[in-house]
Amino acid sequence: MTNQGLCKNCGSLITLDDSSENCKCVFCHCVFPKEEAVKLLEDQEDLSFPNEVYEDPDQTVPAVYDEGRYDNELSGNARILEEHEVYEPKENVVAGIVGAMLFALIGGVVWFFMFQIGFVSAVGGLVGVVLANIGYSLFAKRESLKGVIISVLAAIVAIAIACYMCLALDCYNAFQSWYASGEIDYTITFIQAVRGAYRFLAEPEIARSYIFDFALGLFFCAIGACRYVLNAIDDLKRKKKTGE
Ligand SMILES: [Zn+2]
Repeated sequence: MTNQGLCKNCGSLITLDDSSENCKCVFCHCVFPKEEAVKLLEDQEDLSFPNEVYEDPDQTVPAVYDEGRYDNELSGNARILEEHEVYEPKENVVAGIVGAMLFALIGGVVWFFMFQIGFVSAVGGLVGVVLANIGYSLFAKRESLKGVIISVLAAIVAIAIACYMCLALDCYNAFQSWYASGEIDYTITFIQAVRGAYRFLAEPEIARSYIFDFALGLFFCAIGACRYVLNAIDDLKRKKKTGE
């Protein structure tokens, strides 16, 4: 009889001993009949593992492999673990949103300065979504379709903010020049410009140019997001296949 089996919970390789009818997985502490483990290893077609979390009932069994002692098992388990990605850290969505937003805002800053020097500021949309995705992965400790969607949303918000800040700065500059030329006898601070700039969007001609910039930014954002969306969909398909 073989002395190896597969964990029915997490898919790790288990070394069986003769001391009991049950076997125990050192990775997830799942305890179940040895027969099942052997059967699972023999018939590795369409396996799926629930990956429940079990408390370790006796602390004498090392939860982490001692490398020297379990060298052979480690390579086997590492292989199977990799296949099923049991060790992937948990996705922290809230932290991910913070990360995506922080990094997307860097894209917004890129936009803002490119706009000032008259360069295609919409490229900021692409920068924003790429950075947002990096931010999400860093903070959420995982990449996923959810992360991609959050990154795109964060990039859109950042672009909108950048667009609005450009409008506010244009307003501020306009007021400064009107004041300098004596057209008006008062001027506004930049903060006031930020607070009131939206009123200028009532002017169709002004609104049109900013909306065009915003739309162009969204377009670049979509280009940047394409790769991530396709990757994430591939990832989902792959996970479905391996039965996660
Ligand atoms: Zn297990």
